[in-house]
Amino acid sequence: MLVLGIETTCDETAAAVVQRAEDGRGTILSNVILSQVMEHAKFGGVVPEIAARAHVEVLDAVIAQAMDEANVTFEQLDGVAAAAGPGLIGGVIVGLTTAKSIALVRNKPLVAVNHLEAHALSARLTDNTAFPYCLFLASGGHTQILAIRGVGDYVRLGTTQDDAIGEAFDKTAKLLGLGYPGGPQVEQEATRGNPRRFPLPRPMQHRKDADFSFSGLKTALRLEAEAIAPLTDQDVSDLCASFQQAVVDVVQDRLRSGLRIFRAQYGAPTALVAAGGVAANQAIRKVLHRLAFEVGTVLVAPPMELCTDNGAMIAWAGAERLALGITDPLEVAPRARWPLDEIASAKGRTQR
Ligand code: ATP
Ligand code: FE
Ligand code: MG
Repeated sequence: MLVLGIETTCDETAAAVVQRAEDGRGTILSNVILSQVMEHAKFGGVVPEIAARAHVEVLDAVIAQAMDEANVTFEQLDGVAAAAGPGLIGGVIVGLTTAKSIALVRNKPLVAVNHLEAHALSARLTDNTAFPYCLFLASGGHTQILAIRGVGDYVRLGTTQDDAIGEAFDKTAKLLGLGYPGGPQVEQEATRGNPRRFPLPRPMQHRKDADFSFSGLKTALRLEAEAIAPLTDQDVSDLCASFQQAVVDVVQDRLRSGLRIFRAQYGAPTALVAAGGVAANQAIRKVLHRLAFEVGTVLVAPPMELCTDNGAMIAWAGAERLALGITDPLEVAPRARWPLDEIASAKGRTQR
């Protein structure tokens, strides 16, 4: 089964062709990503209107390149998938409308993919991971712990009450005068810093639930920085190291709690799966490894280019749904907000 996937929910214009074999194994035939990061960098964040226009300008070429690199014709496709949300609505409209046009003209099935579902199912593309597994989705817009029980069967075990984890990294970077996106820069600074210099809080620690909160940590960091301003290079490194250590401790505590809830409700997970750009952070990966070991399972962390937004994960989620006979009508609407646990269409059709 050959599926074209289109991703335009944020600041990446991406398209990919993925093959799904009868036995459920996936192969990426092409995965083209055009990042707009430079266009947004000078604003310190993604500007929705600029993003939407940029998607319009480059999407056709990105799709053509993906088809070309995969050496596949539109005629050969078994379906066209696009992220239909959640995300910046202008971009989502661009990608979904393009997918609809291709589906209509070539008479192919359309699959409207939930962007978070695509992150959630990536591990099955890269590692053929069986259900049920525990997903830690840590990105610029989301911080969630989920039980992934089957295609379309997702239960949220925990989420953030305020900022997303990646957003916390980005805001910390901005506050300290580092560039955008902030995660990689904070991580790099942290390698030169003292993680014990600043006593930052560990929000939500020891609670029975698996929820997160990052705004208190952000405020505490700002107060520490203001108290010693002007900052030397070493101060910045120490602040980054102290911040990252606090985040790592929070992730360890909250995920430990999430895994406990998972086990109590669904038994042992086949894996702990990491997704989202923050999963690129080495200190966070290390603690995820430790946690997986602790509960007697393995850590599955797809390679960086498949952790951040990409077309392959959309194509794959489309293929997984198509394999179950799930398609969407051409009238399907784009959605700015679309929580994962609102997907109910495939419930009860869990496959291994
Ligand atoms: P979403 O997928 O929720 O819509 P997004 O597209 O912004 O949000 P991703 O592209 O998956 O999310 O990830 C980007 C985020 O990951 C940014 O917040 C960035 O700072 C963070 N990030 C990237 N690399 C690292 C790193 N090494 N350490 C910490 N954070 C990182
Ligand atoms: Fe994403
Ligand atoms: Mg992104």
